[in-house]
Amino acid sequence: MNYINGSFKPPTNGKTAPHHNPARLGEITGHYPASGIEDAESALTAAQAAFPAWRDTPPIQRAAILRKAMAGMADRRDEVAAVLTAENGKALAESRGEIDAAIAEMDFQIGEGLRLYGKTAPLSAPGTLGMQLRVPLGVVAIISPWNFPFNVPGRKGTPALLAGNTVVFKPAALTPQVGILFTEILHDAGLPPGVWNCVLGSGSLIGNHLVTDSRVKAISFTGSTEVGKQIQAAAAPNLTRTQLELGGKNPLVVLADADLDAAAAAAVKAAYACAGQWCTSTSRAIVEAPIAEAFTERVVVAAKAIKVGHGTDPATEMGPVCGTTQRRTILEHIDTAKAEGARLLCGGGLLTGPDYDDGCFIAPTVFDQVTPDMTIAREEIFGPVLAIMTVPDFDAALALANDVRYGLSSAIYTNDLSKALTFLEHTDVGLTHVNMLTAHKEPQLSFGGVKESGAGAPEAGQTGIEFFTEHKVAYVKYR
Ligand code: NAP
Ligand code: MG
Repeated sequence: MNYINGSFKPPTNGKTAPHHNPARLGEITGHYPASGIEDAESALTAAQAAFPAWRDTPPIQRAAILRKAMAGMADRRDEVAAVLTAENGKALAESRGEIDAAIAEMDFQIGEGLRLYGKTAPLSAPGTLGMQLRVPLGVVAIISPWNFPFNVPGRKGTPALLAGNTVVFKPAALTPQVGILFTEILHDAGLPPGVWNCVLGSGSLIGNHLVTDSRVKAISFTGSTEVGKQIQAAAAPNLTRTQLELGGKNPLVVLADADLDAAAAAAVKAAYACAGQWCTSTSRAIVEAPIAEAFTERVVVAAKAIKVGHGTDPATEMGPVCGTTQRRTILEHIDTAKAEGARLLCGGGLLTGPDYDDGCFIAPTVFDQVTPDMTIAREEIFGPVLAIMTVPDFDAALALANDVRYGLSSAIYTNDLSKALTFLEHTDVGLTHVNMLTAHKEPQLSFGGVKESGAGAPEAGQTGIEFFTEHKVAYVKYR
């Protein structure tokens, strides 16, 4: 069902598409709208009409509705987690973790929305008050991916709504029901009609319609770099502001003095959690030569021990990848790595057997002897594949870490303060870590990438709501 102007309704064209559980492709989880642009139009019209009243609703009242939604998320945690696992494949514990993270982020962003302070300034004009006010933009579009289909709309939607904007939301086609549940929770919390609208359908049709429409004043997008670039180009003729959170090729640097057990555990956790489909997953381990063998050994033992299975099995540590397109792309990358001369140490293909044959299960895969020119060293794979690369020293590690078009996240394991801080200073990313996972993040600080990993104000922290507001300046002569 789409959600337009406060009601759930089927797509006008009557078309739907089936969704398949990635753990059991024979199981259809549901049929979901393959909407046409007339529904995107209705959603835009509804959002435009709802804007003046929502803008004029006091922020405290807006926050009260969002707090109710937050409570709704907690109440429906297990239900949403089950749907998330059925649609995305991730292990149930990972799904619950995503909902908990969404709640924590929402909590912080609600607080930020109530601190939408403007400022005053001393002026040279006498008897005049100079002010800078924060005002909403109008209708905004939120386009989200399938890897965090609950958390991402929360991270974008909370500041968008709290700032007084109205929203048209386009969930990823691979996770439609999660988008619907997110929307239902907002509806049940009492959001007025038209303030939040959700249109299901293809990105190239619905997504593209939203990003080219001049009524849309801002686009917050999370997804691939390729689509992000198309969106920036599509937004340019209207000067629509964009917030683009894109792909990564995140390096974990391990220096010879590092705690190897901790470094290997961090590599394995961030390479294979959610089957390597975090935007902040570790996909390159860049290791100083003297400890390369010891590090690699630890990683391979741990990768082989990962229990891969259906997300609904409590013993499962890693579920399937999210669908047949993902499966095909990842397997192609694995074949390319083999063909280009990387050495396969474990995994390297589909898992087989009665539990696996009908699903998208790829074995946790480790390659070493990866050189900088290989595709596996350069392109985002977005699957459970780790490339280990050996370097002679710290300077080479830093150079190699930066030698990709992406710049989302990075990490270094070392106890050498000088090298740790030099890495922090020169790593070309939006988010870096010392002696921590490439994936660690908290709601209080911004989240976004540089280079081809992102553009526009980052999400979360204080920049999350900054993106969704305009600074309006006023001068008032009172004497
Ligand atoms: P994607 O293919 O770029 O799709 C993302 C969203 O954009 C989907 O809702 C998609 O709709 C829609 N879309 C596709 N083409 C569009 C177009 N021409 N105009 C407007 N919207 C369009 O990405 P994905 O495969 O879902 O997600 C994986 C990617 O997201 C990875 O590259 C990953 O690194 C990145 N990611 C980044 C972050 C971050 O914060 N930096 C976080 C998570 C994921 P359909 O579903 O219908 O195709
Ligand atoms: Mg895609």
